[in-house]
Amino acid sequence: MIVLCGRHIRAAATAFVLVLALAAPTRAEPPRVAVSIKPIHSLVASVMAGVGTPDLIVRGAASEHGYTLRPSDAKRLSEAQLVFWIGPLLENYLVQPLASLAGQATVVEIATAPGVLLLPARGGGAWEPDADDEHAVAADGNKALSSKDPHLWLDPANAIAIARVVADRLAAFDPANAPRYSANEAALEKRLLALDAQLKSRLAPLRDRRFVVFHDAYQYFDRHYGLSAIGSIMIDPEHQPGARRLHEVHEKIVATGARCVFREPQFEPALIAIVTEGTAAHSATLDPLGAELPEGPDLYQKLLEDLAGNLASCLRPSNEAR
Ligand SMILES: [Zn+2]
Repeated sequence: MIVLCGRHIRAAATAFVLVLALAAPTRAEPPRVAVSIKPIHSLVASVMAGVGTPDLIVRGAASEHGYTLRPSDAKRLSEAQLVFWIGPLLENYLVQPLASLAGQATVVEIATAPGVLLLPARGGGAWEPDADDEHAVAADGNKALSSKDPHLWLDPANAIAIARVVADRLAAFDPANAPRYSANEAALEKRLLALDAQLKSRLAPLRDRRFVVFHDAYQYFDRHYGLSAIGSIMIDPEHQPGARRLHEVHEKIVATGARCVFREPQFEPALIAIVTEGTAAHSATLDPLGAELPEGPDLYQKLLEDLAGNLASCLRPSNEAR
């Protein structure tokens, strides 16, 4: 006779539900999904695993700010049934193309989705406003819009909130695969929590080590892990900083003894040499978008691991500024 305890019965019931879920009838065609940038695409790809593959709009090493849509991008967008994007806060270049879809697709704006933390753009303190600040206002003069920081994906708690929104929206659109989306989301959430715990212990020793970033993409990451970024070379990623800004950053590196100045793959590295000249600061690379990583479900985790690895390597004690 086989005796099952409560735990075994629950496990057997879960397995049975899972078998039913996987055996449920599915749509003949997977939903056509388009996603604006790589980190969000990675989360959507994880939730869609086993059903289909989402399309990515901003490909290659392009910046997340100011992308120019190619005809092939516009075609992918026009064929999509479901579109995930951060919103006009980041992807101004998608506002018009999405409007021209005229309701043929369901468009999900991540920045305003439930559970997603949206922080004000940094200004004052380490990010003093200066003469270059006029460029920080969006092209349409919308100060309220440009007052929020769009780099929300670099907080792993936001990644979990995004995964839940994505799973819900996919399930509503494609109910036959809802159990699969839900199971994928639960597995992704577990992986993200494990990653977060690992990064917390890796980054804890770096909390008081000061550094300068290229453009201010890392507020969510800094805040979540308690890091000490003291400023950015660029105020607005779409405009070169002026001589006054570069001088201010240089002075701040000298005054604070910042150990590292980080460049980004998408931007001109010459500015790094200007602000670090005559200081003991080292330079290294941080990539907020995963621009040089292959797209897909694993990108998000690799993106955060690379950020932590590059920070840890440049901020190590032997790079102490003197
Ligand atoms: Zn950015």
